[in-house]
Amino acid sequence: MSARVIDGKAIAEALRAKIAARVADLKGRRNLTPGLAVVLVGDDPASRVYVANKARQTIEAGMRSFEHKLPAATTEKELLALIERLNADREVDGILVQLPLPRQIDPNRIIEAIDPAKDVDGLHPMNAGLLLAGAPALAPCTPLGCVELVRSVRPDIAGAEVVVVGRSILVGKPVAQLLLAENATVTVAHSRTRDLPGVCRRADILVAAVGKPEMIRGDWVKSGAVVIDVGINRVPNPSAGEGRTKLVGDVAYAEAAKVAGAITPVPGGVGPMTIACLLSNTLDAALRRRGLVG
Ligand code: NDP
Repeated sequence: MSARVIDGKAIAEALRAKIAARVADLKGRRNLTPGLAVVLVGDDPASRVYVANKARQTIEAGMRSFEHKLPAATTEKELLALIERLNADREVDGILVQLPLPRQIDPNRIIEAIDPAKDVDGLHPMNAGLLLAGAPALAPCTPLGCVELVRSVRPDIAGAEVVVVGRSILVGKPVAQLLLAENATVTVAHSRTRDLPGVCRRADILVAAVGKPEMIRGDWVKSGAVVIDVGINRVPNPSAGEGRTKLVGDVAYAEAAKVAGAITPVPGGVGPMTIACLLSNTLDAALRRRGLVG
């Protein structure tokens, strides 16, 4: 048996097209264009690429993109002043501060300063609390993407045994909460979990968010399980030439694909979903702020 490959790129594209259609409709019927402000501090090359992609896809979806590029020496006070302006700006529905921030700035202070109604990254403690309470919240984008990918192959998640490996505030914990809200039975595993292979083998849906290249082996996967690999790890790739690298996930893909029912590849699985879910959160924030949805 060979697992069905979950094509995150195609699913993300379809989600973006759906969002663009809703944005066009909103523009036509209510003369409303959602806006996303993205803040980049410093010139980390990877962050610049992420921010450029976010801005491009925001515009492609028909929304407004406001880019704020600040020098690496920006102080916490200066960044807080910008957040305050963006919180008050009626044109701005979503605020995203690209992480990591330079060391003179405390990321928690910045996240906590963002208006929770505009916190499209879903990292504000208010949104984390609402998610925990099972109330409508802006949830973090990568976990939202994971749930969409699970749904694409298993629309009915209720009752499923889920194992999430990893308990970060960015991925593991929110994905566990989102799947619990779908009525799955969720186990959250981490570095102190006993018999991790045995725990993983229980999973109908296995989510790996560890940050350890190919740690989860094929014989940890239950036959027919849905495997969502969040990990993005750059490793040497000597077969492509000296000094060359490649991206791998937290799951040993070739082994797991022989056992699983469906699996996300790396790259091309969870990664593309993150920005699509950011756009979805921006649209939701624009609607909720105006009382247009629950
Ligand atoms: P963190 O480093 O914040 O968290 C890793 C988690 O894995 C921790 O909870 C840790 O446990 C657990 N862990 C570490 N080692 C082991 C082990 N040997 N056995 C079991 N559990 C272990 O990482 P993130 O959650 O931020 O990211 C996880 C991965 O997802 C990374 O590869 C990252 O690059 C990727 N990622 C991908 C995104 C995407 O868009 N596709 C977005 C965000 C992240 P403990 O708490 O006990 O230390």
